[in-house]
Amino acid sequence: MTSTLPTFQALACDDPGVYRTLLESTKAIPWRIDWTTMRFTYIGPQIEELLGWSPSSWLTVNDWADRIHEEDREKTVAFCVAQSQRGVDHEADYRALTRHGDHVWIRDVVHVVRRPDGSVDSLVGFMFDITARKQAEDKILQLQRELEVLSYRDSLTGIANRRMFDTVYAVEWAKACETGEALSLVIIDIDYFKQYNDHYGHVHGDECLRRVAQAMEAGASLPGELCARLGGEEFVLLLPATGQQAALDKAERCRKLLKQKEIPHARSGVGRLVTVSMGVGTIVPGPKDDPNVFLDRIDRRLYQAKSAGRDRICDAEA
Ligand code: GH3
Ligand code: MG
Ligand code: MG
Repeated sequence: MTSTLPTFQALACDDPGVYRTLLESTKAIPWRIDWTTMRFTYIGPQIEELLGWSPSSWLTVNDWADRIHEEDREKTVAFCVAQSQRGVDHEADYRALTRHGDHVWIRDVVHVVRRPDGSVDSLVGFMFDITARKQAEDKILQLQRELEVLSYRDSLTGIANRRMFDTVYAVEWAKACETGEALSLVIIDIDYFKQYNDHYGHVHGDECLRRVAQAMEAGASLPGELCARLGGEEFVLLLPATGQQAALDKAERCRKLLKQKEIPHARSGVGRLVTVSMGVGTIVPGPKDDPNVFLDRIDRRLYQAKSAGRDRICDAEA
């Protein structure tokens, strides 16, 4: 059986009209620049539909450069000229200006045609409209940024999460090492929260976590202060440039704000309302100190507050 597809030889005919028809019926816009005169010797008529400029208005390389968005112009022209001088085929993405003052994202694919002696004769290429692709890329970038913001947030309470705390803690620790300022931490754990869940159910448990988070965040709301959920029913306050007494005052203020919410807890071992226990500590970190060791120290103080009866703050080793 013989193929009905035309072969390359059949297409490579001597009739230039065939090539012209092919070139001018593609969506890409073909063009040719004479390297010696820097003038367009050809540009596809499709350019008018895409950008609004008639083919007869594309005379010199300057006409091309002038119709590049000013933020892309210098970079694009410099790159294309340098590549062409070296005789290297290349591609450039840029915003082309339309006659109506808008812009279209273009990918220009450029082929350098050389003479037998190797010198550059002309440039031929295609301009592709890549606006849709660029819009999709922008959308993906925007989604990635949103995801990044979301991935630093605790989805239940809306406050910062452990990842955010770890990131900011490392930065604030380094800053305190440099400035010699005190850095304080408060670790907070809800008392008898298992009993709360058992008694009221998980949905109310979640709501309780949100309200505790609100109280803690309201208590540490100065610029630079961070309130994060460490996980489960544990929270942390990161207090840069805060000394021991100020940190203790902050912790007390958070407890007071929570008390004011008057969240009932019928199964608490320390009263009728939801309460928290806290470990508090302050450090002026030096080169020998380790942020994880400091965090552990404050965590031990939290457990001292628990074993001393809960609903209290511990700010020193027993
Ligand atoms: P303590 O006073 O010693 O802190 O006792 P506790 O009951 O608060 O501590 P325990 O570690 O025994 O229980 C913590 C409970 O927190 C158990 C778990 O079901 C609950 N919890 C952890 N994360 C969530 C959550 O996202 N939602 C809800 N509703 N409960 C959670
Ligand atoms: Mg706990
Ligand atoms: Mg607890």
